[in-house]
Amino acid sequence: MTGALQDQVAIITGASRGIGRASALALAAEGAAVVVNYARSSTAAEAVVDQIAQQGGKAIAVQADVSQADQVEVLIKTTMDQLGRIDVLVNNAGITRDTLLLRMKPEDWQAVIDLNLTGVFLCTRAVSKIMLKQRSGRIINIASVAGLMGNPGQANYSAAKAGVVGFTKTVAKELAARGVTANAIAPGFIETDMTQDLSNTEDILKYIPLGRYGKADEVAGLIRFLAADPAAAYITGQVMNIDGGMVM
Ligand code: NAP
Repeated sequence: MTGALQDQVAIITGASRGIGRASALALAAEGAAVVVNYARSSTAAEAVVDQIAQQGGKAIAVQADVSQADQVEVLIKTTMDQLGRIDVLVNNAGITRDTLLLRMKPEDWQAVIDLNLTGVFLCTRAVSKIMLKQRSGRIINIASVAGLMGNPGQANYSAAKAGVVGFTKTVAKELAARGVTANAIAPGFIETDMTQDLSNTEDILKYIPLGRYGKADEVAGLIRFLAADPAAAYITGQVMNIDGGMVM
């Protein structure tokens, strides 16, 4: 395959389903060799790898809980051993444990912070060493509109996603001198497993000027843009909303 990411290697955390899966397909279509990280869904992750191979691309599936430092090390080492470099990191893996503040248990708080914020730190720190050395790289963190505007029932999630925004800006400033960019994407409501059980769809749609949920492919298109050279080479430290106009 030839494209904007020819000969590059991209790691996408949580790429077995949803936005991560769509991004893996999109980056592979641009010629990147893709690491399809997952936590539990090995069959789904292998299906993504197979689909990329059928389309003439290259991908490997790597199991790792990215909230755990030792497993992140394995993810990075496996990537370097098998693919030899890392050009793009998409910190996409995320979970929700929604409940109102007064009912939120410390474990609901901790699980969301551990993956959605600490996982982003661990993966970014690990790839930074490699990107600084090669003097190039793209770090793309998936935040959320919840981290910008808050959302009842998501104190844990919105705190983690707001943390991702601050983290992204600091990383952008620390790594810029060596040609490494870091940006965040803040999706609104996107049709994935994460949103399929929401019961208040009618209420939510009232707040979306475009009047519909977004699609994983639409977020993947923005990720592909931020990964591409030279298209996004001069963009760093930004938060890009993709939310049908919810936040403006
Ligand atoms: P999703 O469909 O629920 O998929 C989540 C992905 O994360 C899966 O591939 C899952 O792997 C992986 N994952 C879960 N725990 C993991 C762990 N400990 N280590 C590594 N991977 C793990 O989610 P999505 O809707 O695509 O969301 C993707 C990102 O976008 C998340 O950061 C989410 O917060 C953000 N986001 C989503 C929306 C939305 O409306 N959907 C809106 C704003 C932001 P397994 O299949 O193995 O479990």
